This record gives sequence, structure tokens and C-alpha cells, in this order.
Amino acid sequence: MPPVPLVDLRAQFAPMREEILAAIVRVCDAQQFILGPEVEALERELAAMIGAGHAIGVSSGTDALLAALMALGIGPGDEVVTTSYSFFATAGSIARLGARPVFVDVEPETLNIDVDGVRRAITPRTRAIMPVHLFGQCADMAPLMALAEEGGIPIVEDAAQAIGATYRGRQAGTFGVLGCFSFFPTKNLGAFGDGGLVVARDDGLAEKVRTLRNHGAEQQYFHRSIGGNFRLDAVQAAVLRVKAPRLQQWTEARRRNAARYRELFEAPALRNRVTLPVERPGRTHIYNQFVIRVPERDRVRADLQARGVGTAVYYPVPLHLQECFGALGHRPSDFPHAEAAARDSLALPIFPELTAEQQAHVADSLREVLERC
Ligand SMILES: *Cc1c(COP(=O)(O)O)cnc(C)c1O
Repeated sequence: MPPVPLVDLRAQFAPMREEILAAIVRVCDAQQFILGPEVEALERELAAMIGAGHAIGVSSGTDALLAALMALGIGPGDEVVTTSYSFFATAGSIARLGARPVFVDVEPETLNIDVDGVRRAITPRTRAIMPVHLFGQCADMAPLMALAEEGGIPIVEDAAQAIGATYRGRQAGTFGVLGCFSFFPTKNLGAFGDGGLVVARDDGLAEKVRTLRNHGAEQQYFHRSIGGNFRLDAVQAAVLRVKAPRLQQWTEARRRNAARYRELFEAPALRNRVTLPVERPGRTHIYNQFVIRVPERDRVRADLQARGVGTAVYYPVPLHLQECFGALGHRPSDFPHAEAAARDSLALPIFPELTAEQQAHVADSLREVLERC
């Protein structure tokens, strides 16, 4: 069996090759590379697909978060309540603005932000709540929305891993005042480089994000606010326009692969040794990652690698224990569920083009590796 990589973007590219090359040539012929008609068309198409009033293309998921927080005027002295278990950008975007990330533990099963923890973390200085829809499953938005409404606190969704995920029929990114997406190549909708998107319902907030992505200039060279260069390239938009119509079918393939893993892992040798990702009712998980929990995770990972199975660890260090946040004064055991996940979570290959044979190889390898425990 040839090695099974964690992701195989070449398998995704092959059937779209001609169409994508034609889209890139279109941009080359137009010689308009920054924003412009390709980006505007993508924004319209994605706003319709996500069910958002406005969609604003930006330079990355990180910059989507940064621009969203800037649009809300968040800065020094402000607090933003967020999860302790996510990609660094979630907390980095808060801290870069001089605001304080206030971390909360995760639910042990979904690894999404714990709503009771959020309630306890809110103070008079809380300016936003930033849930992350981790690995492609929505956080528990109904009670979070209730909390936010009660306190008059805006929600900014980090939906970087969750494009197309739903919660009670509504899409990730459309719950908060602003929703942030990433087109990093390994996200479910990936560009050929960096890219991101902010969605908004409110016209005024959308306009703020639009202005901020271009140095805060409402009119060129006239600045009432200070923004940055958070613009999306036309080449990325052109590529994404080819890929976006296929997203639904890729999501279905990922969900089929997840279901197949669940069957394979029913085998007696695996059933009690591997904890599978939990899907909550009323939510569509889009499986940006299929993350299991295993004892002796690092050894299991190395042994899988030796058998040609690619895996990844998301994330080995929870955010509250990152060295750069040392001044916040957190200690190990502050957030036990996030810390446990950092110790034992392991992402398996789940990309849409993964075959049944490859999945069987992953399961067989895992069984062999665990029998050697
Ligand atoms: C990928 C990701 C980001 C950042 O997106 P980039 O496009 O890589 O800047 C932010 N938050 C989460 C949860 C992510 O997975």
C-alpha cells in the first residue's frame, strides 16, 4: 500500500486542472491582480452560498479575524472571550490589537468552547466573544447567542475550519455580527496561497471591514481610520471561483469518509481504544479534520508514520499555555479539557478523494499500532 498522506491536494487539483488554469490565464490577460472584478464576483457568489448579507475577501483567515475585531473598535483595555483550544490566530488576532484574550476551557466531547465557561468569563470589559467552530463542527451557538444578547456583546465567529457547517439549519459564520473564514490551502475551500473572507449582515459593519482591508481609506488617500493591507488577490479569487461550486460535493465526501471510519473503528480491536469525534444533533460537521483521541498519542503517531499513514496534531499546546501569553498567568490544569485534548488528539486523513482502501489501511495500521501498546 503506498503511503496515505494526511491531505492530498494534487488529487483534488487533477480533475479541475484545465478549468483552474483557464481562470488563472483570465487574470493574467486582464493584468488586474488586487481586488477587482474577480474578487467582487467571488464575494457575491460566496455571500449567496453562505447565506450572508455581505462577504468581503481578505488576505487570510488571520486578517479576517484582525479586521473583524478592528471593525468593532477593539483595542487596549478590552477583553475578548475565546477558547483555549484552537489555532494560534484566534488568540493572536486579539492580542495584536492590545486587547486581552480571556480563555475558556472546551467541552470535553466536541472540543468547542464551553458555554458555562464563557458566562463566567464575561466582565464589564468584555467587548466580544469569539467562538471557534473547531475541526468543522459548530460551537453551541444557541446559548452563546443568548448570552451575547443578554450582555449586549457582539460575537465574532472564527469559522476558518467550518465553511458550509450548519447549526439548526443555519450556516457557520452567519450567527455573529461578523464571521471569519480562511482559504488556507488545507481548509475545505482552499486557495492557491493565502486568502480569507469576512461575512456580515449589517451594512455599516461590512463597510467598515471593506475600508479597513484597504488601509482604512474610504476614498483613496483619505484616511479617517487606520486599517491595513488585508486585500485578496484576483488570482486567488479566480481559483476559488472554480472550487466553490464543488464544495458541497467535497463536504459530502468528507462526511462519507467519516461514516466509513466509524464503521471500521467498530472492530473489536479498536472499539474501546479510540475515541471518535462526537457529532452533536442539529449540526452538520464538515470534517475539516477527523480528530480521534488515543492514549500514547505521540508514539501512535510515529508508528503510523512508519506504516505510511500521515497524521497531524491539532494542537500540541493549548493557547493559555503558550509562552507568549505567559503574562496572563495561566498554569497547567487551568483548563483540563483543552490540556487533555492537546495530549491525546490525533487527526487522521479525511480529504474528499480518500479511497475506501486507503481508509482500511489507516484502520488496519491503527489496530496494529495499538496492539503493540
Ligand atoms: C486556519 C485558521 C485560522 C487562520 O487562517 P489563515 O488563513 O491561515 O490565516 C484561524 N483560525 C482557525 C481556527 C484556523 O483553523
